[in-house]
Order: sequence, then C-alpha cells, then structure tokens
Amino acid sequence: MTELPETCRPDSGDLAPVIDLARCEGKADCLRVCPYDVFEVRVATSAERKSLGLLAQVKSLAHGHKKAFVVHADQCHACGLCVEACPETAIRLLRRSR
Ligand code: SF4
Repeated sequence: MTELPETCRPDSGDLAPVIDLARCEGKADCLRVCPYDVFEVRVATSAERKSLGLLAQVKSLAHGHKKAFVVHADQCHACGLCVEACPETAIRLLRRSR
C-alpha cells in the first residue's frame, strides 16, 4: 500500500483505512463518523493482542482490549472523516492493492 496526499479522493475502493492497533483504544469515533459502515469495534482476539508489542499489550489491557477493525474496506469513499476523528491518530488511508 502507498500513502497518498490528503487531497486525493479516488473512487470508492481505491483507498482504504488502515488501523494501527498498537495506537487504537477502541473509542469508536471512526465507527460513529463513517457514512459507509467500514468499521467495527470489538474485543481483540488473543492472537491479535499477541501481535502487538509489550507496551501496546499493557495499554490494550487498560481499555479492555477493545479496538476498531476494518470490515468493509471496499466501501470506503476516502472522505477522511475517520482519520480526522481518531483521537489516537491511529488511522491512515492507503491505496488498496489489487
Ligand atoms: S475515509 Fe470516510 S468512508 Fe473511508 S473509512 Fe474513513 S470515514 Fe469511512
């Protein structure tokens, strides 16, 4: 995936959000602002938690292991609302590989 300038707004499906799970605290702002139901917020699985660094695992515990996940990347319209809304700056829009 290639990071693009904020001014780029390709058609649906060209870009998709990528969440840094080490930063995400599951506050669900992305879920609230996304007009296309791209996200879900749930408790991370044991395997997902283990993929994080030690510090991020401790931080994750403090938030009940709740995190946002991209479940409908193909529906993203690259509006950027989720990127602006995330209080942890955990979301980037990247070009989807095809
Ligand atoms: S850029 Fe817009 S459409 Fe895409 S996931 Fe974020 S809020 Fe939803």
